Amino acid sequence: MTGRLRIAGGRVYDPRNGVDGAVADVCIEDGRIVASLPDDAPVLDARGLIVMPGGVDIHCHIAGPKVNLARRLEPERHRADPVPRRVVGSDSGAHVLRSGTGGVVPSTFATGYRYAGLGYTSAFEAAVPALAARQAHQELNDTPVIDKAFFLLLGNDDFLLNLLARREPELVRHYVACMLGAARAYAVKVVNPGGVAAWKAGAAISGLDEAVPRHDGVTPRRIVEAIASAVDELGLPHPMHIHCNNLGVPGNAATTLETMRAVDGRRAHFTHIQFHAYGSTEDGRPTSRARELIEYVDAHPNLSVDVGQVMFGPATAMTADARVGHLLHRLTGRKWVDLDVELESGCGIVPYEYSEKSYVHALQWAVGLEFFLLARDPWRVVLSTDHPNGGSFLSYPRLIRLLMDRAFRDEQIRRVNPRALEGTALADGLDREYTLNEIAIITRAGPARLLGLEHKGHLGPGADADITIYAPAEDAEAMFSTPRYVFKGGELVVEDGELRREVYGVTLEVRPEYDADIERVLRRHFEERGTIGLEDYRVDEAEVDHLARIETLRR
Ligand SMILES: [Zn+2]
Repeated sequence: MTGRLRIAGGRVYDPRNGVDGAVADVCIEDGRIVASLPDDAPVLDARGLIVMPGGVDIHCHIAGPKVNLARRLEPERHRADPVPRRVVGSDSGAHVLRSGTGGVVPSTFATGYRYAGLGYTSAFEAAVPALAARQAHQELNDTPVIDKAFFLLLGNDDFLLNLLARREPELVRHYVACMLGAARAYAVKVVNPGGVAAWKAGAAISGLDEAVPRHDGVTPRRIVEAIASAVDELGLPHPMHIHCNNLGVPGNAATTLETMRAVDGRRAHFTHIQFHAYGSTEDGRPTSRARELIEYVDAHPNLSVDVGQVMFGPATAMTADARVGHLLHRLTGRKWVDLDVELESGCGIVPYEYSEKSYVHALQWAVGLEFFLLARDPWRVVLSTDHPNGGSFLSYPRLIRLLMDRAFRDEQIRRVNPRALEGTALADGLDREYTLNEIAIITRAGPARLLGLEHKGHLGPGADADITIYAPAEDAEAMFSTPRYVFKGGELVVEDGELRREVYGVTLEVRPEYDADIERVLRRHFEERGTIGLEDYRVDEAEVDHLARIETLRR
């Protein structure tokens, strides 16, 4: 079997290769895109259909202890959305699809099936502490179809804060590389740098230059500088992925801008920027400062963002920023669970619901749309809902319709709390409508480029044959909800919106080099302070199914 197929005559949207709706063939051989095939290769007639690379989710929460805790916290949502076991395909090629549960935080198998059903073929879990790496890998092993990876949480960990307190920033690079390798992670995630450690110590820090208690003068600014430098020096494919201090706090746009300035030419990806883009009225009500932030990002090519759009309806707040979980619990009275990750991080989870009549929720919705509609460079302002924080990944088709269809958007705008729109760009009647090419950028080509994935997000020769084919429709939500065909690594997995077979993608890791001397220091640190030793952190190659290494850019 050579796995050949010619997808013939579709309208192709492949922005990375400058193809914007041209009618062309896309050829597959052995799981990859090739330039051409012999004339007698099998053909899939795609005339009249739209062909794009598979979707790439740059930031979501789909594996690890916090996701599992959220599942346990929400039995009522699972009861309402069971995913029964199914047998699909013919007698000769029958496939069993595993049972599970859906809701806002689906079980592992349902997560893979549902991403594939939307035409997404890769997803990146955005926050795993090293202590939880093994569990995250086990869950990713059980997440079918999609390729996946996770970002390693650093920035509130005792060892790093100690290195900075001792003014040994040159060791940070070795430490970061060592931990990435031990956890088999893909990138570095910083959440509320120093702020989680402070909150756990019973203190609050709000500015970039306030010291983290018990860590001798270490500030958020020094953490950001040290990690951004280390990531750049290691040449990791994805820059420092940062969730800024003061998430959700009125006036936090000032902190976000200051953090962007602190990055000072280094690469950084600012995640769910919507949650970090608020001004404040005199009486402490949040307002939008999206315009200033988007202008800053537009003017600085070293920076990128994903939006973290809020979608009305159910969500689950799930964050390593434990302070935020506690705050939401106190504001809403909803059930809450908090998790301390010793020496490393924290985590808070609150089942949530966004309402269009709520001033704050409507403002958050509008701020997210402002980012999309004002962005000049869609390659650096990409789509996310911070699943499941702003809404489920299943709401992406609706979000795409909001961007592509002004009449639909205006109808939604008329339903939300009108006070919230005052002062946002939405009140000015933004008439921008995203093109299919721009949608292909913010959902595929852009995230793949920001993640440093050479072989994803495009349809040029050598790319993975991850391909989604849609039937064009007036209603973009309907079109993007039910792809006609989805190919994963050259295999047809979805037909007419229905999953036809279960395949397994790879888990991506990076393995940057480092000075092994750091292990000696780390080992002693864990022996003195931790409940487990350094060796327990190390995830063996055999513990990860289908492991694939991505080379770092420079050494
Ligand atoms: Zn997140």
